[in-house]
Amino acid sequence: MNISYTSTTANSKTDRIEKAIALIEQGKVYSQAEGIFRVLTERFAGGYTVTLTGCDCADFEQRQGAGDNAPCKHQWAAIGATAARLIADLRKAATLAALEAIGKQYAEAMTNLPEVFKGIARSEYRKRKDALANDEALQILIKPQPKSNGTYGAIEI
Ligand SMILES: [Zn+2]
Repeated sequence: MNISYTSTTANSKTDRIEKAIALIEQGKVYSQAEGIFRVLTERFAGGYTVTLTGCDCADFEQRQGAGDNAPCKHQWAAIGATAARLIADLRKAATLAALEAIGKQYAEAMTNLPEVFKGIARSEYRKRKDALANDEALQILIKPQPKSNGTYGAIEI
């Protein structure tokens, strides 16, 4: 069996979600028009223009050139904010019951989100669920076994 449950913080998707949450909490996301947002940044005075299909940040433009259309942190913060919050909460869930409660809590708010965010949130949910299920199974396995009275060789003491 492959037990590789350690941490989910190493990939870039995780970083984008965490950065998106920080942008939201710092109040850097502004609605400009229907479906168009401005996300302020220290790098660039005017901020980035963000829509569902694009962002003028370097991360998005470089990846798009390479055929990767995954949302950048600005799209997560502006358009996928609900999904970003959901994912951040899922990662903190300590039990399967807590995970399911979080899923239910967000279910309605998620219905109107673009599919790309919902799909990633669903995969994060499954990943966390598997990790917690492994974790809970492991706890059952390592419960102390009943002690025998003790034997030495074949002779009972
Ligand atoms: Zn961007």
